[in-house]
Amino acid sequence: MNWKRITICGGGNGAHALTAFLLKNSSSRLVLYLPLKKEFKRFQAVKNGKTPFILIFKGKEFTIPTDRLYITSNPEEGAAADLIILVLPAFAHKDILNSLAPYLRSGAVLAALPARSGFEFEAVEILHQYRKEGIVIAGFQTFPWACRIKEYAKSVEIYGQKTMVGVGSLPSYYRDSISRSFNKLLKLEFIPYNNMLELTLNNQGQIIHPGIMYGAFLDKLSKLYQRDEIPLFYRSVDEKTADLLECMSREILNVKKSIEDNFSLKLEAITSISRWMIESYADDIEDKSTLFKMFQTNQSYQSLRVPVKPVNGLYQIDVKSRYLTEDIPYGLLVSRAIAELADVSTPKIDEVIEKTSRWIGAQYLINGKLKGKDLVKTRIPQNFGLDSLKAIVEMVLKNHHA
Ligand code: NAD
Repeated sequence: MNWKRITICGGGNGAHALTAFLLKNSSSRLVLYLPLKKEFKRFQAVKNGKTPFILIFKGKEFTIPTDRLYITSNPEEGAAADLIILVLPAFAHKDILNSLAPYLRSGAVLAALPARSGFEFEAVEILHQYRKEGIVIAGFQTFPWACRIKEYAKSVEIYGQKTMVGVGSLPSYYRDSISRSFNKLLKLEFIPYNNMLELTLNNQGQIIHPGIMYGAFLDKLSKLYQRDEIPLFYRSVDEKTADLLECMSREILNVKKSIEDNFSLKLEAITSISRWMIESYADDIEDKSTLFKMFQTNQSYQSLRVPVKPVNGLYQIDVKSRYLTEDIPYGLLVSRAIAELADVSTPKIDEVIEKTSRWIGAQYLINGKLKGKDLVKTRIPQNFGLDSLKAIVEMVLKNHHA
């Protein structure tokens, strides 16, 4: 695919990293769409000063000219592209899709990096509302980098890079050309997935983030920490938490099996958490003998701390972090809702959802049933009129555009 004009939506850590890599590797015209006025002004001020962008990657500093970068807060300018990449938390997808949809051009690729779960349900519904045809929807199974902004609009640091990232599309036959084009653009291995349902069910963040919050931090929620005592997030996985993650992963694999047994679609990309970890991090992991050891020895997992909030000069674990507010309603709950349609029981996933949703003040499952009042704000398929597995399968296999 020859994308002459690419738009990146978002002004956070991930958008900084993607902007830097695309400026470095591609020759396309790049537009950064920043609907939040404050972010737009900060970027504009730096760009007007003609400062180059700094990318810090594998201990090296790359100085990247920004002449090809155009900054806008106007959705019409943002949508005027061959490829539009949303680099946003999943709860912001809806607002951004609504702002861009009226202006999207037929033939454009609309991609979410990462997609999280149920992106395709939401995107199809919004494109229908605006009577938009001929748009290709794409999603990525994970975000390729662990990264943080060093200085806003000026520099970003990459702490780790995954070896491979899955990509799915709707219509699904675009997946090969999209993954090939991204291989070239980002010099990473993008693996085509058969369909977008594989993205939803193979979203490993939905297992890892809520699973660790519940398994490793349940008894530490009221504890106050000095700054240098804040526990590392992934390194806090003990053997019991690793068992919980494996159990949640097995429940998702049961859903996969049930769908494959009853429908003719391939879901081979949906894999166990251990296999996904080995495939994504490869040589970054020193000891691959057990999942517990992989968490302990994965180089990419050695610096990130559990999210905290300040309390009286100390720090307390922040349960309202994305690990729950994004990864439950736009992740685990979507898979749980699909499990219900497949008639597969998911006791461990239910336990994690029921307990952690109380922490964030949300109600999704009541006595194991999808009856909570906050379900309307989630991306479960039932919210988009997809009330059966047959309807979901037909949708992801559809061979015409949204
Ligand atoms: P971030 O918090 O740094 O940035 C979020 C950005 O989203 C904001 O800066 C803003 O531009 C935009 N945004 C948020 N709400 C919005 C709204 N209502 N309207 C318009 N714009 C809005 O987040 P991030 O680190 O860039 O993460 C983006 C996605 O990538 C998330 O799904 C995250 O879980 C995932 N991810 C990030 C990393 C990482 O290392 N940064 C790693 C893995 C996955």
